[in-house]
Amino acid sequence: MTVKTEAARGTLTYSRMRGMVAILIAFMKQRRMGLNDFIQKIANNSYACKHPEVQSILKISQPQEPELMNANPSPPPSPSQQINLGPSSNPHAKPSDFHFLKVIGKGSFGKVLLARHKAEEAFYAVKVLQKKAILKKKEEKHIMSERNVLLKNVKHPFLVGLHFSFQTADKLYFVLDYINGGELFYHLQRERCFLEPRARFYAAEIASALGYLHSLNIVYRDLKPENILLDSQGHIVLTDFGLCKENIEHNGTTSTFCGTPEYLAPEVLHKQPYDRTVDWWCLGAVLYEMLYGLPPFYSRNTAEMYDNILNKPLQLKPNITNSARHLLEGLLQKDRTKRLGAQDDFSGPSDLRHFDPEFTEEPVPSSIGRSPDSILLTASVKEAAEAFLGFSYAPPVDSFL
Ligand code: ADP
Ligand code: MG
Repeated sequence: MTVKTEAARGTLTYSRMRGMVAILIAFMKQRRMGLNDFIQKIANNSYACKHPEVQSILKISQPQEPELMNANPSPPPSPSQQINLGPSSNPHAKPSDFHFLKVIGKGSFGKVLLARHKAEEAFYAVKVLQKKAILKKKEEKHIMSERNVLLKNVKHPFLVGLHFSFQTADKLYFVLDYINGGELFYHLQRERCFLEPRARFYAAEIASALGYLHSLNIVYRDLKPENILLDSQGHIVLTDFGLCKENIEHNGTTSTFCGTPEYLAPEVLHKQPYDRTVDWWCLGAVLYEMLYGLPPFYSRNTAEMYDNILNKPLQLKPNITNSARHLLEGLLQKDRTKRLGAQDDFSGPSDLRHFDPEFTEEPVPSSIGRSPDSILLTASVKEAAEAFLGFSYAPPVDSFL
């Protein structure tokens, strides 16, 4: 009632409403997480696990899906049902290798479950996808892309790790690191916005993960709140490679329309071809939301928001540092060719800005790249070389030849 009256008076702003919803969600999640922690602690203790009462608690807490509880296991796939899962495929793995304890997430094609590997006694997040749903949505390509991206053996501290995958007649199983710090935006909603050092830390880790993916010609493209998780130590872990596009060369573009409405880059809204710079726009949107508590160009009216993304100049309130301002202006640049990252992406070893130009502007002496001609070595040079004979690293002798 109050909500209605306030809304009618126009005083229930989006951020207030979001704050209220966030408090409720946080409350519910906290209760749920408390229970999760408790169950995990019990499940971790092999002595406690043997106790019949503990076993019955764990059973009750299992998702009520007979197949996942192994009461009615799905048969292995016949050759025609087989999807090629590539090198991460473990042909010996089966659902009954796991205790499925909790549903911890739901996505467009299936569920993510907390599972305990019976033999290894380790916890994993197992993403279970229905083959039927994938085929119905004609998203086989997306899944294949997820598989390929995960199986390219993309390994990075801020990207979720895939241990192995397997399948039954009707499902695909991806066994992932279990990331239990919650979604970044779960924390953001609770705290409304982050102080700049914290936002900077997360933005830097996300940027590092994106730069790494780009170096493998992968555009993440789907950077959005629910795909950014925190691990138990508070580091960023990006999940969900379902919509990654592979094999996009640095100047390559693609034009499938997808992504979260709030973070859509202008070129995506325009249905123009886009490339890896779309990820830098999304990083800008995430950073903006971390600092201000709302996505950039936000409006409750979606059409107005799209119009803002396309046409409204970026306005930044003054309560951020100049570095944050420059970064946001660079990332939320509507013209992707002028966007920060369009030139050098995440830079790399060729970025020498942090060295004194007094050195970097000095010409490299041509003698440095040349091997000395052993016959012409002077006595003093020979003597100097011998003084370093015991040096712990010396290139193989033939590299001098
Ligand atoms: P979809 O591709 O269908 O969006 P996601 O891979 O994003 O599926 O997973 C759905 C949700 O499950 C995520 O938003 C996240 O909350 C949770 N989740 C996914 N992977 C993990 C993981 N490795 N550890 C913990 N939670 C996860
Ligand atoms: Mg997702």
